[in-house]
Amino acid sequence: MTLKCRECEEEKVVPLSVEQLKRIEAGELIQNVAPEVDEGLRELLISGFCGKCFDAIFDGPEEEDEAQAAAEQAKEEADREDWEAAQQADHGSGWGTNS
Ligand SMILES: [Zn+2]
Repeated sequence: MTLKCRECEEEKVVPLSVEQLKRIEAGELIQNVAPEVDEGLRELLISGFCGKCFDAIFDGPEEEDEAQAAAEQAKEEADREDWEAAQQADHGSGWGTNS
């Protein structure tokens, strides 16, 4: 069978039998079902990205985690500010301020 990488759209031949694919689909680890399949092809099976693209996308997980955490924190703060602004706006109209 062949699988196409989602990123570079390169088609890779994956040397697996139907039987092996069924076991993988059933949740068995690829490295147990097909230890001879190289790591790049395993990535393609698991993630849909070939090894090369997988490395390019997921390289430096620590840095990415940090950046993502910071981004999420910033988003939370922005959401809270929005919420507070919304509350104040509600009070403003609700209480009929004289300003
Ligand atoms: Zn690729």
